[in-house]
Amino acid sequence: MQAKLGFRNNMDSSRFNFRVPFRRKEYEKYITALKNSGAIEIEHVGKNLQLGKQRQRVKDSIQVIHDLEMKAILYTGIFGSIDVRNNGELKKMVQRDLFENVLSYGKQGQGAAMMCPSSDYIEKVVLPQINKTLKFAAYDGIFLDIPWIMYGGCFCENCHDVREENKSEGKNQAEINAINVRQGLERFVGAIKKDHPYLKISVNASAPTIYRHSYHGAEIENLAGLFDQYVSEWNPLRMNQQVSVVTKCIERTIEIVEETETIEGVQKDAEFYHATTCTDPIGKIYPAEKLSKLFYAILNGGALPRLGVAFGNEGLGVIKNAWKNAVERYQK
Ligand SMILES: [Zn+2]
Repeated sequence: MQAKLGFRNNMDSSRFNFRVPFRRKEYEKYITALKNSGAIEIEHVGKNLQLGKQRQRVKDSIQVIHDLEMKAILYTGIFGSIDVRNNGELKKMVQRDLFENVLSYGKQGQGAAMMCPSSDYIEKVVLPQINKTLKFAAYDGIFLDIPWIMYGGCFCENCHDVREENKSEGKNQAEINAINVRQGLERFVGAIKKDHPYLKISVNASAPTIYRHSYHGAEIENLAGLFDQYVSEWNPLRMNQQVSVVTKCIERTIEIVEETETIEGVQKDAEFYHATTCTDPIGKIYPAEKLSKLFYAILNGGALPRLGVAFGNEGLGVIKNAWKNAVERYQK
């Protein structure tokens, strides 16, 4: 069914952080081990690096990935979370509730804020940063994380027009949030595709419909037709659920995406990934047998695994065995 069979690995930035030195040999060794475990794509945070040395590290790392005939993916948040302390300009672009409180995700209390899709954050901050990165780094794709508005919606000044216009047409707040997010994403995808038509753009489509998250505008219906790759996300092992839950998430995602017309310039045949962690909440890797069942369920659902952990050598061995078993079972 699939031309390629392998997983994407999301690098934990703590091990090979581009802001601090690491030896190229050590990186090569690690990426080679990932390839030998079954990885075909490596995703990492390589944006907004100020120093020449840091940029050189990204360049060198992508060279290593390409020399091993793998793809390099740039991970980036689309609307958040940004530290807006001491930045008057950014403060005008943040998501706010009805009482003008700054909305944040994950890092509350540390100045981190979600950026508003209706503001010019995309044009003034995200696109210049990404375009700058793409000038020195030969990425093959971009992954957009957290493409949503916080619970309840954004009521900042930037959203005034989209809110009033759609309210007068009888739309409810959830619909307005979805339109708001969609318009921001269309501006982003349109701008990137214009200059880099072959760059694959993937999106965090969350775990659609089965487990409704409390954020607005990221539901798969709202993302359909716009991206080359969709990433659903759920780890049933953490919830003591049957692994078949992930298959349901993937099937639903595929169904909706394939029903929807694509916009101009975006590849017609979307690819599907399912993101999962391979460790339990205290960071211990699950046994190969459990992971093998999970990987098989992902493949069988029609997606490829996107594994969100940087593994030590021991972990890599477990992944390798689990992946090998899943692929063998899938190919039978
Ligand atoms: Zn807003």
